[in-house]
This record gives sequence, C-alpha cells and structure tokens, in this order.
Amino acid sequence: MTDRPDAQPRASHFVDGDYVEDRAGEPIPVIYPATGETIATVHAATPDVVDRALTSAARAQADWAATDPTERGRILRRAADLIRERNRDLSVLETLDTGKPLQETLVADATSGADALEYFGGLAADVTGTTMRFGDDWAYTIRRPLGVCVGIGAWNYPTQIACWKGAPALATGNAMVFKPSETTPLCALKVAEILVEAGLPPGLFNVVQGLGAVGAALTTDPRVAKVSLTGSVPTGRKVAAAAAGEMKHVTMELGGKSPILVFDDADVDDAVSGAINGNFYSSGQVCSNGTRVFVQSGIMDAFLSRLTERLAGVVPGDPLDEGVNYGPMTTRAQMDIVLRHLDTVRAEGARVVAGGKRMDRDGWWIEPTILADLRDDMAAVREEIFGPVMSVLTFATEDEAVARANDTPFGLSAGLFTRDLTRAHRVVARLQAGTCWINQYNLTPPGMPFGGSKQSGIGRENARVAMDHFTEVQTVYVGMGPVEAAY
Ligand code: NAD
Repeated sequence: MTDRPDAQPRASHFVDGDYVEDRAGEPIPVIYPATGETIATVHAATPDVVDRALTSAARAQADWAATDPTERGRILRRAADLIRERNRDLSVLETLDTGKPLQETLVADATSGADALEYFGGLAADVTGTTMRFGDDWAYTIRRPLGVCVGIGAWNYPTQIACWKGAPALATGNAMVFKPSETTPLCALKVAEILVEAGLPPGLFNVVQGLGAVGAALTTDPRVAKVSLTGSVPTGRKVAAAAAGEMKHVTMELGGKSPILVFDDADVDDAVSGAINGNFYSSGQVCSNGTRVFVQSGIMDAFLSRLTERLAGVVPGDPLDEGVNYGPMTTRAQMDIVLRHLDTVRAEGARVVAGGKRMDRDGWWIEPTILADLRDDMAAVREEIFGPVMSVLTFATEDEAVARANDTPFGLSAGLFTRDLTRAHRVVARLQAGTCWINQYNLTPPGMPFGGSKQSGIGRENARVAMDHFTEVQTVYVGMGPVEAAY
C-alpha cells in the first residue's frame, strides 16, 4: 500500500511563476472520494488574483511568441521528462484528488500529460504556412499565436487536461491561464510548478482556482483571445455564448452518450474488453465512454454472459493500493445523479443484469452496473450519466444499428467491433461521432485528433489540428509589379 502524503498545496494558485495565496477567496475543500475525508483546502481566486494571472500572462506572451520555437519545444520536452520522473508522486496526488485507482493514474494521466508535452514540444518548431502564386504576384500565410488563452478543466483527468490544453497553447507561442475543476484543484498546480522548473518563463502558465464564477470571469475578460473548455454540454453552452460576445476562439470538449456497435462476427472477448474499458474504467467518469452498447441479436446471450463473468475481476478497495482496479465516484453529487438514474430506469422496467446499487463502503461507490431490456427513449439510455452504468441494447441490421447510434444530440465518439473490414469502414463513415475506434475503445494517443461532433464539442484536441486551433492565419499578399489604378 502506498503511503498517503500530505495533499495540501503550498498555496491555492500559481501566478507569474510562483505560488500565490489569497485567503479572501471562498474556501474549497478537497475531498478524498474513497473515504469522504477532507485532505486539503484551497481558496477560490479573488478578482485580484484573476487580474494578476491575466496581467502576467499578457506581459509574458509577447516575449514567448518571439522566442525561438526550438527553445519553446525544448522546455516542453524537459517538462515531459520531469513529469515522467515524478510520475508516481503525481499519480498518488491524482488518486487522492479524483479517487481513481493508482493502478490507473500511474499509466493514464500524468503520463498522458507528458506524452502531450513531448509531442507538442517536438512540433513547436514546425508551425508552417503556405505560399500561393497569382501571376508574378504571390501570397503567403503565417500562423500566429492568439495571445492569452484560458483553459477550463473537468474533474476526471486533472493532470492530463491541464497538459492537453497547455502543451499546444505554449508550443505555438501563447500564454495560458488554467482553471482546474473546483473538485480536483491539486494536480494542475504541480504541472505549473514543473513547467517553471523546466525553464518556462514566469506568467506563461498560471493556475487559478475557483467555481464557475471564476471561469466566467476569465471567459469574459477582454485580454483573453481563446477559451478551451473540457466540461459538460450545459457549461459548454454558457462558455461559448459568453466567449461569442467578443468573438473569442473556443474549443469545446464536452459530454457524450456514445455508442459501441458489436456485430455478430466480432471477436466477443475483444468487444467485451472494449465495453468494460469504455464503461467501468475510472468508474465510468470518462466523457468518451461507450455507454450505449448495441449488440447484434445473434450474439447477445454470449456477449452478456462473458461480460458478467468478467465482472468477477473487479477489485474495489483503497485506490492507493495498486492491487485495486475499481474506485469511487469523484463526488457525492455525482454518485447521487447515478443512483437517481438507476431508480428511474428500474421503475421504467429495465433489467439490472449486474450491479445497480451503492456499495457498502465509506465514500461514494457504485457497483459496476449492466442494464438490459431497455428502450432507446429511456433517460438512462439518452442522457450522459457519467458513472459506471452500461446500457446493453440489441439490434438486427446494420442500418438499424447506425440509425439508433446516431439518434442522439451528442456526437463525441463511437466504437464498433467486427471482423468484416469493409463493413467496419462503411459503418464508421455513417456514424456521427468526432472520434471512432474500430476493434478498440478509448485509446487517445497525442498524435490523434480527439473531440466531438454535434453538441459534444467544437474543435479538436491533440495532433497538429490542436496547433491550428491555438493559432490564426495571417495572409500576406506580395505585389511584384507596378500598382495599376483606374486614374
Ligand atoms: P462542468 O461542466 O460542471 O464543469 C467544467 C468546468 O467548467 C469546471 O472547471 C467548472 O468550474 C467550469 N464552469 C462551470 N460553469 C462555468 C461558467 N459559467 N463559465 C466558465 N466555466 C464554468 O463539468 P464537470 O462536471 O467538471 O465534468 C464532467 C463533464 O465533463 C461531463 O459532461 C464529461 O463528459 C465532460 N468531459 C468532457 C471531456 C472531453 O474531452 N470531451 C473530457 C472530460 C470530461
């Protein structure tokens, strides 16, 4: 068992290269979800802290944009190395912050953040434009940084989200003010500290704490050129509307109710593994989860029985114990939302194949739950639950599966399992989802664009496309001949 370190950060915020405290801000308790204990307290940023963060970002950004991009990249890659060296400490903190098992955080949070810093660090010197010829004249484009960007995070992957937003912003010459979720405020501070240790000049990556009001203050500040949010669809609507007031750029990584299609020629064990990873990893608190699993009728029984057998491998327990592979909900409020959904869907006549209840433990635990005998119009099948609840539905034909998979306002992701290569690509082309997996689920390497269609988002994170979203094109027309005028 890993010892539990003191989680209290040196101060609540990280501004202009150092920790900053202002106790006038509302206290925010940080709770270890596995026990419900308060393990630290931070204070929401006051208007003064928000102003200092934005002022330092605006001041630092001009020099950073003029810094040789090779040097910018080197600093990001150094930060990636430091994160990897300290992965265990960062993962323990992440586990305390979120309740996710250490087994998961050791491989899928700080390391994923390091991957992003390394990837964008490598690309920093490769931001290029294009040239065009018009007779003897020509034009070229330059990609310019936007200026001060704001990142606002959700609570499920605090280190990863800070890095996925910070790395492309910094690589392309922007500054960032990042507001973590009020539920998981600890890890982004460590990212900021490590970036400065790696050589990032003060002011370029600031962290301010707070609830939605602090996020709203950042979003509407005239010094801010872009807002990148990871959060729910309702918050996305508010943030996009506020940003529209001054035509700020936005990236919206929002929620989903994604489908996984399992055809009757699929490798059932792979499909079951995909459904488990896409529903119960992080106790279901993953935006891209495939929570509507459509199984072709011929293999429904085999699928359900293998799936329920595999649940014998679930090991709940103290998330700091590396033998544990299943943790609690990150907040009591989230547990209550999940339990309400389960009550409703049961009353509507759904069959609970496995789980379905709160676990008898301290903290906020819900059993991994499999639902069947559902209708597509039930709330549990239509709404994002953001918990360990898998809806298993059956279908007969490919056309039916595609139509039902697409019958949702969300479009974050989708998966399909089949051994028929032609069908795989034919179906994927018909799915309304920003990110799709064939015979795999939920893997997000940094070189792959990630993001949603429809109400699940605007823009993409990761890959080169994220660098496009943190820059804008300046076009330069070059006249080579005499200037002709009518008179
Ligand atoms: P949330 O929408 O409640 O909050 C997200 C962030 O927005 C928080 O930091 C919050 O303080 C801030 N916020 C709230 N109101 C605001 C406002 N008016 N202006 C500015 N900021 C505001 O989301 P959550 O509960 O923290 O996270 C869960 C949600 O996030 C789920 O819907 C999940 O699907 C989504 N999510 C999406 C992705 C993705 O990449 N698509 C990744 C993780 C989580």
